[in-house]
Amino acid sequence: MKVYSFLRGGIRYSDSAVPPRGSSVTAFLPGLSVIPLAQHIGNRANPVVSVGDRVREGMLIGRGQGLGSANIHATVPGRVVRTVSWKMAEGLTNDAMVIKLEGGFEKLGRYQEVFPWQSLSSFELQRIIAEYGIVEMEGSGRPVSDMLYSLRSVKDPVTLVLRCVFDDPWLSADYVLCKERAAEVAEGCLIAARAGRMNRVVIALSEGEKELGAMLMDNMGKAEIPVDMFLAGSRYPQRNGRELELALRRYGKKHGGELGVILPMGPATLAAVHDAVKLKKPILERYVAVGGSAIKKPQIMKVRIGTRIGEIFAECGGFVDKPRRIGAGSPLMGRTVVDLDEPVVKTSFAVFAVLQGQTGEKGRAGCIGCGECRLVCPIGLDPEALYKYAQSAKSRDSTPGRAAECHGCGCCEVVCPSHMPLRTSIIRSALKGN
Ligand code: SF4
Ligand code: SF4
Repeated sequence: MKVYSFLRGGIRYSDSAVPPRGSSVTAFLPGLSVIPLAQHIGNRANPVVSVGDRVREGMLIGRGQGLGSANIHATVPGRVVRTVSWKMAEGLTNDAMVIKLEGGFEKLGRYQEVFPWQSLSSFELQRIIAEYGIVEMEGSGRPVSDMLYSLRSVKDPVTLVLRCVFDDPWLSADYVLCKERAAEVAEGCLIAARAGRMNRVVIALSEGEKELGAMLMDNMGKAEIPVDMFLAGSRYPQRNGRELELALRRYGKKHGGELGVILPMGPATLAAVHDAVKLKKPILERYVAVGGSAIKKPQIMKVRIGTRIGEIFAECGGFVDKPRRIGAGSPLMGRTVVDLDEPVVKTSFAVFAVLQGQTGEKGRAGCIGCGECRLVCPIGLDPEALYKYAQSAKSRDSTPGRAAECHGCGCCEVVCPSHMPLRTSIIRSALKGN
């Protein structure tokens, strides 16, 4: 099978401190769960319980407020003991309900009734997906129901892309999920395709993952719409929306198939769609890659949403030494975590602690003009020039237009021998220009 990729730039990204892609282990249930009311891109959910209230596992505790917002559920049974609020590294404030674990579980370890979905309309499926607060389980956490709803006026054909492209080793938790929950991911894909009235499914796989693709195809059985497999290159950032679409369009052209509008979704999101529709279950846990050079025993864990990051690190043996940076997501594009009491949320596919900042450390030697950053930028930007502009007095009043094109992949920072904080400065400069 031919492998399709984007045309310019990119890097081969490896990291020895990533947990091995073996099987997952289940993390301890937290005694205190911190459930943020904003785990999505839009407004925080409106709390529907108060301090002192008892909550059941999976019970609604916050109602989404409009576009970009999603419902929030209790992930353990117990009592709301307090509310907390904290400032995140980006300067935004988040607030959360703190639930003390008490009483029995209704879903964990219980027989799960299965609800058929084949006779449900796309509208009914969208309503269930919204009710259970399903969001994209990475990035900014866009509500899936919003994504599906936005397709209602699209006239062109729509292709759902099951995005199993693992160009970043920190996606190992989603890789393990894909293997351990292949049946649920595959069925979630067909449910989402029906909910969005999509015309076709393409399973986008990293090269070398044909076996995983065959497993997913087998689990889809006789689908009512065409399902194809597509092999993507393994250069980072192949998984990124822009680079993935470039490769998919080349694939579509070659195979004479009109892909129309492309909607990529990750395996964790589609497994969550399955759980919402077939099991009437909100997102209670997430597969998380826990690692980094400061962690004694990196591993892939199934973690209840609301578990504090410090507890997860403790379960992995703690730190070998004082970490230089702690964060959530991939060190390349992830966000810095300032407080170990911050919890795992729906979008936390990885949490890391590193001894030396892998990216974005203050440049020690200053730019040496090697040009490496220009070679790897997939968009063809000049990161060095944009960085210098961002640092200059001029940039306080205006921003160079091309900074807005940066999608923050971080390739330039990784290759910079002087460890210049290129990505961070360019993104800040672009935001200022908005
Ligand atoms: S972070 Fe921005 S400037 Fe740097 S390589 Fe990626 S797209 Fe280019
Ligand atoms: S990679 Fe770093 S040192 Fe080399 S030109 Fe770019 S900013 Fe300068």
